[in-house]
Amino acid sequence: ILPQKSIEEVSADVQQWAKQKRDEVESLQMNEEFRKEFLMNLSHELRTPIFTIQGYVETLLNGAIDDAAVSKKFLSNAAKSIDRLVRLVDDVDEISKLESGRMPLTPEAFVIQDLAKDIFEEFSLKTQSRHMKLEFKKGTEGALKVFADKGKIRQALVNLIENAIKYGNEGGTVSVGFYQLDDNRVYVEVSDDGPGIAEEHLPRIFERFYRADRSRNSAIGGTGLGLAIVKHIIDAHGQTINVRSKLGVGSSFGFTLERRG
Ligand code: ADP
Repeated sequence: ILPQKSIEEVSADVQQWAKQKRDEVESLQMNEEFRKEFLMNLSHELRTPIFTIQGYVETLLNGAIDDAAVSKKFLSNAAKSIDRLVRLVDDVDEISKLESGRMPLTPEAFVIQDLAKDIFEEFSLKTQSRHMKLEFKKGTEGALKVFADKGKIRQALVNLIENAIKYGNEGGTVSVGFYQLDDNRVYVEVSDDGPGIAEEHLPRIFERFYRADRSRNSAIGGTGLGLAIVKHIIDAHGQTINVRSKLGVGSSFGFTLERRG
């Protein structure tokens, strides 16, 4: 026989249940807000490249096609906008998979510096074209083994290095450092000596579609999703990410990883 609950206990249960329901509803409403905002941002981001392509195609059809040089220029500009659309669709695909939890992590043990060496090679053309240096920072001596989803950490590092090169100054340096933080964690840091990010933007920099300086960045042509993807990946690993930046000095993005052996 179950002991009878007192009126106070029943009332506490009811209050607890009501609070739980209220939290559930609030979280659903939040999701709904996020969804609306995401769609609004997305249609805004799609508009520019689509209108650009439309403009070039219509001008070509209206006669510009008869001039070979003009046609070539217009088509090459339209192709750039198509590239932008493809990148946007890829990033949206990635972020929706991460958010819906349809991409479970498959962690393994690997040496983080080896992964970075691989990535550095991939970037050699991009750094050369901007006369930039991509180098290792003096961190903890010796190989650091981590336990994480290698493919996803590769993507996180690629996004951070890509930004550092993209926003960094021509002729500047991007450095990547690896440190043993404590017995259980490794710290990875990607730094540049570029223009930096104003303090007021830092708290929102990891939000989807957030950009620090719209006019400057529209020329660079990102999707505004790169850092949101990085944060998702690091969050999914139960680790933390941070940013430090100073205008005119540079930026540093750092995240932790689980250390293994
Ligand atoms: P984007 O596709 O615009 O690069 P991200 O999510 O990768 O989107 O970055 C968000 C914004 O953060 C960028 O638009 C830029 O304003 C700023 N940012 C990111 N990395 C750097 C960096 N290394 N230096 C300066 N600004 C940066």
